[in-house]
Amino acid sequence: MSNKHQKEVSKRRTFGIISHPDAGKTTLTEKLLLFGGAIQMAGAVKSRKTATHATSDWMAVERERGISVTTSVMRFNYHNYEINLLDTPGHQDFSEDTYRVLTAVDSALMVIDSGKGVETQTTKLMEVCRMRNTPIITFINKLDRDGLEPLDLLSDIEEKLQIECAPLSWPIGMGKGFKGVYDLLRQQITLFTPSQDTRPEDGIVVQDLADPMLDTLVGNFAADKLREDIELLQGAANPFEYEHYLKASQTPVFFGSAINNFGVRELLDAFVELSPAPGPRATTTRLVDPGEEGFSGFTFKIQANMDPAHRDRIAFFRVCSGKFTRGMKVMHHRLGKEVNLSNATIFMAQERAHVDEAYPGDIIGIHNHGTIKIGDTFTDREELKFTGIPNFAPEHFRRVVLKNPLRMKQLQKGLLQMAEEGAVQVFRPIVGNDYILGAVGVLQFEVTMTRLKDEYGVDATYEPLKYTLARWVHCDNKRVMTEFEKKNQFNLAFDAEGHLTYLAEGNWRLNHTRELFPEVIFDKTRESV
Ligand code: GDP
Repeated sequence: MSNKHQKEVSKRRTFGIISHPDAGKTTLTEKLLLFGGAIQMAGAVKSRKTATHATSDWMAVERERGISVTTSVMRFNYHNYEINLLDTPGHQDFSEDTYRVLTAVDSALMVIDSGKGVETQTTKLMEVCRMRNTPIITFINKLDRDGLEPLDLLSDIEEKLQIECAPLSWPIGMGKGFKGVYDLLRQQITLFTPSQDTRPEDGIVVQDLADPMLDTLVGNFAADKLREDIELLQGAANPFEYEHYLKASQTPVFFGSAINNFGVRELLDAFVELSPAPGPRATTTRLVDPGEEGFSGFTFKIQANMDPAHRDRIAFFRVCSGKFTRGMKVMHHRLGKEVNLSNATIFMAQERAHVDEAYPGDIIGIHNHGTIKIGDTFTDREELKFTGIPNFAPEHFRRVVLKNPLRMKQLQKGLLQMAEEGAVQVFRPIVGNDYILGAVGVLQFEVTMTRLKDEYGVDATYEPLKYTLARWVHCDNKRVMTEFEKKNQFNLAFDAEGHLTYLAEGNWRLNHTRELFPEVIFDKTRESV
């Protein structure tokens, strides 16, 4: 491996933001891009959500609801680091997409609303991060509003998310009385001035908290409270341990206000310093190191209709080793076919540009017409298959009702393609001829129906079903499996890749079946093949 290659890898930072809707992810993203010089003015990120996709029909669903269905990649440079921020749909109905994006990052930023603490979507996303022990830095946002006590926020995170908190900054007051933050590592204070779009001034160093200068800076009341808090922290909070952060058993915590651009620079500085560069990734045969010469990577997301005029799809591909150069030939191993990557796209903050080279950690977009599936591996030599890009068990189910039976073929094609893109999951019950749709969020059904109509000319609706959960099932003991299938035939279906899935009306039913068939294994996620 060359020195240059190693240098390129070590300056890459590829991450995603996890949060509950409204915690401030979009606002924070925008500020990060401002610092990175990738956008020039506030408001740009919000407008991206509506303007760029306005031409696409099925995106009308997104526009109407004012939510972001798509996931995009924003690339920016900060202090000589090449940062890839993988944006994720904020709406929980598209969490399946978000889950998958998290398989392609090296670390995550978690945004928590100081008024609300840990919310449901944060908990779910955290579960996904835990699958790969993704290191997480926490930003507690909206300190300009009255919220929960900082210590209570830390206990909330520790209790609900089962991760140790190590505060690296500490708020001085909150709401109307918010004075600034105290940097626990550098022992300096940065004073808060609301509503500024520029970087805050450098911090004021306070060597000793007993110094009366502190009272002059923030007032007696806030100064005393800070002294008390810090004393308390010294006994109660965990000291920051870099190794624990990397293992994802501890999260460093920062406080601030994204909308006021306060605490964001400190967060970004800490982020580039602490967060890991691309590391080795697992395949079915061995670990692949980013420093290896051979090119390799995998697809973690497919986006249809980026350009509705061409009915194209873009496969989002993460480079894992070697170097991508324009026009290179790679093997698409699932199909055993050689592909020329001539028109790959790299994603900048606001536009797409052709890419000439990309390194491990970078995301490139590959245009295709439906040949690439989520989880597909491409390499320039050795046959490999990356693991850890799972399907997530759906929580909502609908039966498809086709209005014109003559369109059955088109229905099949549309559903299969959408299943491959990961837009929705499709099941065929072992008894009967139905198509069952499975989704993590119900809005996925609406998008599926709109797309069936627009792209495949299929008029269909859907009906509710009694199922509420799905588990992929397998068992080494053939006799037990046969018996299991016989007894549960009305609850079994094959997914789009032919894997047997158990659909249940609720946990009680699942637990009951588990008790009856202890040898059968019920999986909540399934790796693509
Ligand atoms: P997202 O849904 O997580 O992307 O959240 P947004 O970034 O869209 O923010 C949700 C709302 O919170 C918006 O009205 C923002 O203006 C507001 N917001 C974001 N950051 C702050 C903050 O630091 N303080 C206050 N008071 N409001 C904020």
